[in-house]
Amino acid sequence: MLTSSELIDLVKDYDPNANEDLLRKAYLFSMETHGVQSRTSGAPYFQHPLEVARILTELKFDTQTIAAGLLHDVLEDTNVSFEELEEIFGARIAFLVEGVTKLSKINCSLFDVRQVKNFQKFILTILQDIRVLIVKLVDRLHNMRTLGHIPSKEKRNSIARETLEIYAPLAGRIGMNIIKDEMEDLAFSNLHPEEHSNIFSKLNRIHMENNNFVQSTILELKRIFKEAGVNADISGREKRAWSIWRKMQKSDISFERINDVMAFRIIVDTKQQCYISLGLIHTNFQIIPGRFKDYISVPKLNGYRSLHTTVVGLIGQGIEIQIRTKEMHREANEGIAAHWSYKSNEIIPQKDESGKYKWIRNLIAIHDNSETLQDVMNYSKLEMFNDEVFCFTPNGDLIALPRGATIIDFAYGIHTSVGSTCIGAKINSEIVPLQTVLRNGDLVEIITSPHSHPDGAWEKFVVTGKAKLYIRKFIRTQEKKEFSALGLQLVKYVFSSTDVQFSEDLLDLKKFSCDSVDKFYYNVGKGIIFLRGIQTIIPRPRNSGAVVYKSSVCLEEFIPGIAVHFSECCRPILGDKIIGVLVPQKGIVVHVVNCDSIEKNYSSVVKMKWRKEEEIDSEFVVKLNIVVLNLTESFERVTNIISSNEAKIINIKMENRSTDFFDLIMDIQVKGISHLESIQASLRYCSNVKSVRKL
Ligand code: MN
Repeated sequence: MLTSSELIDLVKDYDPNANEDLLRKAYLFSMETHGVQSRTSGAPYFQHPLEVARILTELKFDTQTIAAGLLHDVLEDTNVSFEELEEIFGARIAFLVEGVTKLSKINCSLFDVRQVKNFQKFILTILQDIRVLIVKLVDRLHNMRTLGHIPSKEKRNSIARETLEIYAPLAGRIGMNIIKDEMEDLAFSNLHPEEHSNIFSKLNRIHMENNNFVQSTILELKRIFKEAGVNADISGREKRAWSIWRKMQKSDISFERINDVMAFRIIVDTKQQCYISLGLIHTNFQIIPGRFKDYISVPKLNGYRSLHTTVVGLIGQGIEIQIRTKEMHREANEGIAAHWSYKSNEIIPQKDESGKYKWIRNLIAIHDNSETLQDVMNYSKLEMFNDEVFCFTPNGDLIALPRGATIIDFAYGIHTSVGSTCIGAKINSEIVPLQTVLRNGDLVEIITSPHSHPDGAWEKFVVTGKAKLYIRKFIRTQEKKEFSALGLQLVKYVFSSTDVQFSEDLLDLKKFSCDSVDKFYYNVGKGIIFLRGIQTIIPRPRNSGAVVYKSSVCLEEFIPGIAVHFSECCRPILGDKIIGVLVPQKGIVVHVVNCDSIEKNYSSVVKMKWRKEEEIDSEFVVKLNIVVLNLTESFERVTNIISSNEAKIINIKMENRSTDFFDLIMDIQVKGISHLESIQASLRYCSNVKSVRKL
């Protein structure tokens, strides 16, 4: 087992000023408190936290993190209390240890909506200090390495599954691919041992058979690079079993048909040399089109940078080549850890030029703005688990978005105010609808209008947490405004049916448990306070009985009771999609939803729906234009059809009489849209009728 001095030496290798006393104290404290406890393997328990601390030194973490690694299980597995830990090691280390302990207790599946609370706890804990997550990841990595010692297969599988679903993606999210890759392969070999060993042995065979090929490819690459005078570190390897298996699953193909199981890596000194190297490779090997990716100019969301290309190798099969600098290589393996400064105790690394920790900040912003647990869950999940797509503004600024993102997501990605006032957009200079799904490389130009505002319908197609959140927020405030305005109109309306002049002073707010007039109007508008209730506070009503309101429509989520008129322009009938427009001094005028005469004035539009058919005794008059054959029997047949359908004919006109046809313009009275439709259907069935249309 590693001694405390050996551990300290490992830390001092990269941090000569490391706090030795702290490390030694943590080492001894953990060893003593875990005492004679042992792991399922029979090894002393202390070996586990010690190994976690050692792995953390490989990633060059600060002493607080190493200490937390040593102590990460004492709260859970020994009698040590938080207060004790705080007294001996200070508040921050105690916090880290407590955080790791909390994470371990949260048994959450991110894909289970019922686990909202757990997920929120999880995110909250990570957000307070990202190092909690790092210690937890390394803890889980070591547990995965020693998973074979757990006797119960069920337990092994559940740990492996959780690792695959939660911890590996999280490690990937903070760019710690080296941990992610190992976790995935360990989980894979546990969950699918047969497939794993199958692929593994095939890889081995390829390795044996192709060793010459790998070596000669490396030699050839080295020759090319030497000739060009580019200093490069070149290596070759087979791809990982898990990534091959995933590819087999995804494309539903056999191992034999995956033709690029070999990958080569070229590590150079500078970014310029990356592109020079790419040129060298493309001049000397034939490229396989469509496989080239430039993650240097457009890094992945987790900060990954590299050039990827696939070319035809020496013996005719595809080989993948990755080109990157040493710095990029370290970042690709260690992610967040590559930027960690062991000198400071930053919670999120300050050095974030490429914006790769933006997702952590996004998570924090979402958390601050969310109203419900469900929000946090939904939005954070979206932020963390969607694949990404990259698009550009006309200025060349890059906006990275989750796959499936639309124009509106893009607009919100630029700035909240751009999203909120977006009225149109162009993709690659062509005007497109707002719900258009973006593709990689799209150049997106957003058109805004200062007086515009979000549309509730956007909520249905946006995918980013940010866009969803702001649209929802807008809808909520807008709804509040609308209901208040409606409430005010309703109150005035009630007053107008009496002799009493409307005045806010007459409103007895206390009686309705409202602390402000706005609240009162909102409650009236929303239907929480009934109109009949308002009447009771108005002194001396003009007529003794209550005002009776009767109508075939009602406001959505609202009690019946307001003057309703049907518009003359579009003449809605039962079954039409309808909307109400508040007209001062008149009440609500009902229109068909897409009626051209409705001005898009949101503050005066209210949602309306029809009452149930059986509750309605009114009839609606519609005007029909029926084109019929110019035969004497046509008129009789049409009128027969209408009356046999139990509709009343109010008015008839004949127009456009020609040699073959004439038009019948009829006003008929129907019960609703389904009644009308069955009449229209019967008419169309008649051989004398050429067409029927509602005017
Ligand atoms: Mn542990």
